[in-house]
Amino acid sequence: YLVRVAPMPSENGKATHFILSFRDISESRVVERMRSDFVANASHELRTPLASLQGFIETLQGPAKNDPKAGERFLGIMLEQVQRMNRLVDDLLSLSRLELKAHIAPSDRVDLLPLLGHVRDALQPLAASLDIEIAMDLPQDPVFVAGDRDELIQVFENLVQNACKYGQEGKRVEVTLTPATKGQGAEVSIRDFGPGIAEEHIPRLTERFYRVNVEASRSKKGTGLGLAIVKHILTRHRARLIVKSEMGKGSVFTVRF
Ligand code: ADP
Repeated sequence: YLVRVAPMPSENGKATHFILSFRDISESRVVERMRSDFVANASHELRTPLASLQGFIETLQGPAKNDPKAGERFLGIMLEQVQRMNRLVDDLLSLSRLELKAHIAPSDRVDLLPLLGHVRDALQPLAASLDIEIAMDLPQDPVFVAGDRDELIQVFENLVQNACKYGQEGKRVEVTLTPATKGQGAEVSIRDFGPGIAEEHIPRLTERFYRVNVEASRSKKGTGLGLAIVKHILTRHRARLIVKSEMGKGSVFTVRF
């Protein structure tokens, strides 16, 4: 608690009454703590590829100076590290932009049908490279929700991309759009048939930089920020993310508008 004592002004200038106030600051302490953890995590994530770049540059200037074959290989790795830093900075910028408009609900009307078609086309090359079929079960008629088209594309691209990356061995990703029925909002669910996610991880998936397996995430070009971005966008849209998963059978990520 933050305790303040303030004298109450009286007519003769002498303070005879005081106001004692107690303010609960535990929440702002938590927010402060989260911010400093976030900065530490982000710096660490950037430092890893930077350290690797420095190492390769020093090797190219020294021991590998006259070895064009090694030079070519190292440049390839250095490019990957730069791409990784780019992805991270893009995601960090997305998050900070979303934080700025967290309380402004989007007002456009967006038809989810063409939007999901766009997501499928954008991810087709990735799915093909992983030997995955993306199957979409969409209704005939348009399904409108209040939303921001680009942000919703980002949400579904993230979820379908995760389903492809982490559910690769399932060979199939199913996207189902269920239009609103009486009193119930529209739903989009993305199902994979991969290894699934253990129950204890599920509540933490949307935390920044939370990964079930850091090495797997890195090797799959993850930044650990994808689901945090999804959650921010959905909060702004007054929509919910519901995650259900069964080990050995796969996961379903549902967005309920
Ligand atoms: P990343 O950039 O690491 O993919 P995300 O925030 O998108 O970060 O996801 C967080 C973590 O959740 C991932 O690292 C992965 O461990 C886990 N995850 C996300 N989607 C799935 C899925 N469909 N199946 C299994 N694990 C998943």
